[in-house]
Order: sequence, then C-alpha cells, then structure tokens
Amino acid sequence: MDFRSDTVTKPTSAMRQAMAQAPVGDDVYGDDPTVNELEQWTAKRHGFESALFTTSGTQANLLGLMAHCERGDEYLCGQQAHNYKYEAGGAAVLGSIQPQPIENNPDGSLDFAKLKAAIKPDDCHFARTKLLSLENTINGKVLPLSYLADAREFVDTHGLSLHLDGARVYNAAVALDVDVKDIAQYFDSMTVCLSKGLSAPIGSLLLGSHEFIAKARRLRKMVGGGMRQAGILAAAGKLALTEQVEQLKLDHQNAKRLALGLSQIDGFKVNPDLVQTNIVFAKLDEHIDINQIAEQLAEEGITISTGNPIRFVTHKDVSSNDIDTLLSKLAVYCNT
Ligand SMILES: *Cc1c(COP(=O)(O)O)cnc(C)c1O
Repeated sequence: MDFRSDTVTKPTSAMRQAMAQAPVGDDVYGDDPTVNELEQWTAKRHGFESALFTTSGTQANLLGLMAHCERGDEYLCGQQAHNYKYEAGGAAVLGSIQPQPIENNPDGSLDFAKLKAAIKPDDCHFARTKLLSLENTINGKVLPLSYLADAREFVDTHGLSLHLDGARVYNAAVALDVDVKDIAQYFDSMTVCLSKGLSAPIGSLLLGSHEFIAKARRLRKMVGGGMRQAGILAAAGKLALTEQVEQLKLDHQNAKRLALGLSQIDGFKVNPDLVQTNIVFAKLDEHIDINQIAEQLAEEGITISTGNPIRFVTHKDVSSNDIDTLLSKLAVYCNT
C-alpha cells in the first residue's frame, strides 16, 4: 500500500493488453495511428481544436507556457502552482519566461485584485504580462466553475490568455459532478495528466488551438520530447480517459474515509469537510514522530510520506480496506 501519490498507480490489465496490441508508427513523422487517434479524440472530447501527447505533465506545462509566451514575457500564477514551484523553474530556465506568482487563497484560487495589480504596464522597464495560469485541482482543492468564469472575464478584460494546469482536472470534474468540458470551456489551453489517478504508465496531453499546438509540437521536439512508436503509451492513455474516470469517485470517497479516521486519532488534525478529492492533508502534533512511524509502516509494506502537514493520496491501488488497515496501525503507533 502506497499513500504517497496517485502517480504510483500501476496500469490496468486492459491497458497492458491494449499496449501489446496497439498499431504503431514513427510519431515524429506523424505516422503513429494510435497517437493520432488519441490526440484527435482528446481534442474533441475536451472542446479544443488540437492536442499533443507529451512525456509528462511537466513537459506539457512547459510547452504550454512557451507556446503562449516569448522570451521576456511573463505569466501570472499561484505561489503554490505546480508550474511555478515544482517544475525546476523550467519556464524561466528554458523559456526565458518570467513567472509572477501571487499568494493563493486558502481555497486555492487567486485574488483578481492582486492579479490586476501584478499586470505590468506596457513600458520598457517591465516584462510583458501575457498569461494567467490556473491549476484545478490545486493541492486537492477544486476551483468552482463560477471562479473559472470570472477568470475568463478577467483575462478578456486585460488582454491575457488563460492556461489550465489540469493534471487532475478529472478529479475536479468528478468532484463538481460536471463534464470535463464544462471546466475546459474557459481556457485557451489545458493539460491533462494520464499517469496519476487515471493510471496510465506514462503521458500527458496539451490541448489548444491548431496554431498553438503546432508551435508546441515544434517545442516538444526541441526539448527532446519527440517520441517514436509512442502508440504503445497512447493506447493506455486512451483507456485512462475512457475507463478510469469512474474510479476517481471511489478515490474521493476513500479520501473522506481516511480523513474521518485520521481526525479520530490523537495527534492528527484534519477537517474532513475540507477534503474535496483524493488528497488529504493533516497537521501533526509535536509528539508525533512521523519519521519513526513511517519506518514502522514500511516494515509492514505500507508507504507514506513524511512531513508536516503530512499528505496522503488515495488511488485505485489502495482500497477502503487498506485505508482501514492504515488507520488502525496509525492509531496504535500514535498512542505509544
Ligand atoms: C503531477 C503534476 C504535474 C506534473 O506532472 P508530471 O507528469 O509529474 O511531470 C503538473 N501539475 C500538477 C498540478 C501535478 O499534480
């Protein structure tokens, strides 16, 4: 049992079968029928003109930022944004794009007054503000559709483009009980991660206009992301989007179950009402030695993150029974 992340999910047997049987070709020549089918299907499914299969969510974000922004341009994002904080500064390093982070509100959103104040005037002193990048879900929190509509209005007012880091956008759609298109409709571009809760072994997608994706395709080659018989991966990716979305509902129920259980254990502070998707954060009291607990659990085949707040992620490879097992062990270790 591994509670560190939904990235640990193994491909389903249906995926392994589809991978073995996928018709393939050289995708850099545009010859891989399985990749082509996935890109065309995904574009349509999410309401975009075009799509690009990428090696990772990090690469999809990088290509998205670089396709929107030239050297010396700037994107607005959250301090907690994955494409600011957790991608090794790629947009700045490889794209010469300046990030302008804004403190996230507790619900994950960005305040429009603060965003407005951060937009630079057209003046040679400043980077050119071009893009607002949002993330949904962000640290497991869901941005509501009304906020996304406001964000669209904001970027239209200020002549910016709007990008979504949608690594876990399906978790957001499931939590909101809306179609993923209802979220996607507000954005000029969006990423989707196939290898998190959706359980494909590898891959993300970048979505946008024909022109935008053509630019991103060239950039993908530049950063070494042109793949050859990638249909083997795309075959699994298609099943991620068609067969694994249902699973996320269960993952969310399991996260609630875990949060409720943790809230009963001495030393863990968590508000189960704040758990919206598959990620649970708990604050630890000082008397909890989480490193030692993690070591004890590891001996029993259970892997958890350490740190305070501690993060648990639910996914298809941990069942509700597994959660009960984890909770009962934590209850014992925290009382000794
Ligand atoms: C995981 C993640 C990414 C990056 O995906 P990788 O495939 O790990 O590179 C980007 N954004 C968010 C919000 C993520 O959770």
